[in-house]
Amino acid sequence: MPYVHDTLERLRKSSPAQTEFYQAAEEVLECLRPLFQHSPHYLDHSIIERIVEPERQIMFRICWTDDAGKVQVNKGYRVQFNSALGPYKGGLRFHPSVTSGTIKFLGFEQIFKNALTGLPIGGGKGGSDFDPKGRSDGEIMRFCQAFMAELYRHIGPTTDVPAGDIGVGGREIGYLYGQYKRLTGRYEGVLTGKGLDWGGSIGRKEATGYGAVYFAQNMLEARGKTLEGKTCLVSGAGNVAIYTIEKLYEMGARPITCSDSRGTLHDPRGIDLDLLKELKEVKRASLEAYLEHHSEASYIPVGEYPEDGHAVWRIKADAAFPCATQNELTAGDAEVLLKNGITCISEGANMPSTADAVDRFLEARIAYGPGKAANAGGVATSQLEMAQNSSMEQWPLEKVDAKLKEIMANIHQQCADTAEEFGEPTNLVLGANIAGFRKVADAMIDQGVV
Ligand code: NDP
Repeated sequence: MPYVHDTLERLRKSSPAQTEFYQAAEEVLECLRPLFQHSPHYLDHSIIERIVEPERQIMFRICWTDDAGKVQVNKGYRVQFNSALGPYKGGLRFHPSVTSGTIKFLGFEQIFKNALTGLPIGGGKGGSDFDPKGRSDGEIMRFCQAFMAELYRHIGPTTDVPAGDIGVGGREIGYLYGQYKRLTGRYEGVLTGKGLDWGGSIGRKEATGYGAVYFAQNMLEARGKTLEGKTCLVSGAGNVAIYTIEKLYEMGARPITCSDSRGTLHDPRGIDLDLLKELKEVKRASLEAYLEHHSEASYIPVGEYPEDGHAVWRIKADAAFPCATQNELTAGDAEVLLKNGITCISEGANMPSTADAVDRFLEARIAYGPGKAANAGGVATSQLEMAQNSSMEQWPLEKVDAKLKEIMANIHQQCADTAEEFGEPTNLVLGANIAGFRKVADAMIDQGVV
């Protein structure tokens, strides 16, 4: 279909070097071909040209002073991608690899993910190339304050509500919120992932990981199976990975790995979750320190990874949960996983599998849950936090968790039904992209050319 091809070509010319963004856009647009054949009216409204273009992109300078008194300068971004379904919603990422292309890819994915939740939220994303590693609490605070000193004028509880992502957890959200309050004088739900004593939702911290496990369970149940007794690989050792591991244990599965930017940990008896939380949430230490407590575990440093992929995916298991970062699972990894008999992959991270790896999983017809569906539990619970803030309530865990479970089951059902409708019942990538797109596109058509 020349239309899809031309749009992608135009993007390559107009946004040079944003390779992750093209990867995300190409996946979505390629999946939409059968929809356009079936419903060509989407082409009449130039929806795809409009949907790949952010409504607004804000880029700013962040100046702050480090502990040595030196002035540091970083780049800041907020991409307000699409507000057809509600206020812009999406996290902030602080990582040295962040560029405008990274934020654009994440914001683009967020549009469809948020649509799949069925909640009234549009898509946005932001962040900075700031590296929090090795920085003192004081430096983190000063950086967050400087970041918010610019961002505050562009966000608000009914316009744009950021949350956390890589490098932005409870501590950073606290500093960002404090600065927003100081600058505006308003105590309002402008960020999610807040502390439980000052507007946060019970269950938000756990929601992305728990949701990815619920999604895996939904996919397996549709095939007459469960997670019980399954050996699982998890990558990452941050917010999403930790609560994926926690929920896997609750489901009777055995998570045997986790990883960070320095290496991979393999504990065949099952990851010691309390120790992992202490190392990562409290001490912010390397995973290598785990070996001081568990001599049966092994640690593979990044330097010893296979040339064509990641050590974590070379370990034999039944299910895999990529929960670290984009493109962390290659075609080479996918081939080894499939050879080792993997039956289920549920993505906690955003776009963790390369396009070639996704093709391998789809060809093998295993249960494969793409990130924009499988990790939507985090943003869904963020929206529940917004609802609690606007009614000045705090709901109990049972209520939040029941809603999360229901939302994940609905997302799975929508993806499966849409995949079936378009004649590829096991292809949840197609199902997620078409189902998410249709909601946003229909709202854009209803709201006219704006
Ligand atoms: P955290 O910062 O809490 O954890 C990220 C983990 O991944 C850390 O263990 C980090 O290692 C590792 N990691 C990050 N970048 C790299 C890299 N380039 N190479 C190897 N390891 C890396 O982030 P989250 O857990 O919040 O986010 C993880 C993923 O989940 C991201 O893709 C994010 O976009 C996605 N996501 C997060 C949501 C949320 O609610 N937080 C919601 C939906 C998706 P180290 O500790 O060494 O830095």
